[in-house]
Amino acid sequence: MHDYGITLQDVYQARGRIQGLVRHTYLQHSPWLSSHSGRRVWLKLENLQLTGSFKIRGAANTLLSLSAEQKERGVLAFSTGNHGRAVAYVAHQLGIRAVVCLSKRVPDYRVQAMEALGAEVVRSGESQDEASIKAAELEREEGLTMIKPFDDPLVIAGQGTIGLELLEDLPEVDTLLVPLSGGGLMAGVAYVAKQVNPGIRTIGLSLEVSAPMHESIQAGEPVEIDEVDSIGDALLGGIGLDNAYTFPLVRDMVDEILLLSEEEIADGLVSLFREHRLVAEGAGIVGVSALMHKQGLELGSRVAAVVSGGNMDPELLVQLCSQRFNQ
Ligand SMILES: *Cc1c(COP(=O)(O)O)cnc(C)c1O
Repeated sequence: MHDYGITLQDVYQARGRIQGLVRHTYLQHSPWLSSHSGRRVWLKLENLQLTGSFKIRGAANTLLSLSAEQKERGVLAFSTGNHGRAVAYVAHQLGIRAVVCLSKRVPDYRVQAMEALGAEVVRSGESQDEASIKAAELEREEGLTMIKPFDDPLVIAGQGTIGLELLEDLPEVDTLLVPLSGGGLMAGVAYVAKQVNPGIRTIGLSLEVSAPMHESIQAGEPVEIDEVDSIGDALLGGIGLDNAYTFPLVRDMVDEILLLSEEEIADGLVSLFREHRLVAEGAGIVGVSALMHKQGLELGSRVAAVVSGGNMDPELLVQLCSQRFNQ
C-alpha cells in the first residue's frame, strides 16, 4: 500500500497525547436535517470545541511532540485565524512562546482573539502567501518552529481523532460530510474511516469561489489559486505546491468533493441558528448546506456532518439573519 506518512496507531497516540487539552465534542442528532434529507443525520459539534474549532487537535498533537529545545525557543504559525488561535491557546497552556503571522486581510476580531490568548501577532502582506514569507523570515532569524496548519502527519493525526470519536459514538455511521480546504481535517477523518471500514462514504465540501484541492485532484497535482473572499473564510487558501501528505490522502480516501455557493453557505448558517440555536462559522456549516441544497447527493442511511468551527463574525451573522428572517 502507498505510504501516506500516517498510521492508525499515530491517530490513537495523538488521542492519548491531546486528551487533557481537547474536548471530546458532542455528536448531536438533528431531527430537522433528518426529516429534510430522509436519512438519520448527526452533527459533530467542533464549533463547541475549545478555541472554537477542531484546529486545536492538530496543534496540540504537534506542540506536545516538540523537543525540549524547540519548546524553549518557541513556535510560529501563519493562518487565517483558527489555526493561529489554536496554536496560541495550546502554546499558552504549555508555557511556550507563540508568534502568529497574519495577512492584513484577516478581520480584526480574529486578531484580537489571538492577542487575548497571549500570542504575539505580526500582520504583514495582503495574502496568506505574503504572510508566509514573513513567517519564514522569523523562523530563520529567531529559531522558532513553524507549526503547519494541515500538511503534516502530526496535524493530520490530531484531526483524525475526530474520526475515532465519531466511530465510537456512532459505530454504524455510513456517510461522512467534512469541510475541505488544505485537507488536514478531511485527510485525518477519511483515513481513520477507511481504515476501519472502506465502505464508509467520505464526502469533502469546499467553496465554489475557490476549491484548490478539487482543482488539484482534477489536474493530478497541486495547483495555484487566486485569492478571493468568502463567508466561509476558513476554507480559503491554497494546498501548497509542495504538498506531500494531504493531497495524496484526499485523492485516495475521499469519494466525492462538492462545492457550495455563498448563498448556500449563508442559508446553512442561518438555518442552523434557527433550527438548533447553534452558531457556527461559514466554513463549519458546509455539511449542513449540502444536506439542505444538494439534491441527488448520494448518502447512506446514517450521516454525520462535521461542524468544524464556530468563530463566526457576530456582525455578519446578525446581518445574514436579519436579511433572511425578514423574507
Ligand atoms: C481550517 C478549517 C477548515 C479546513 O480545514 P483543512 O484541514 O484546511 O481542510 C474547516 N473549517 C474550519 C472552521 C477551519 O478552521
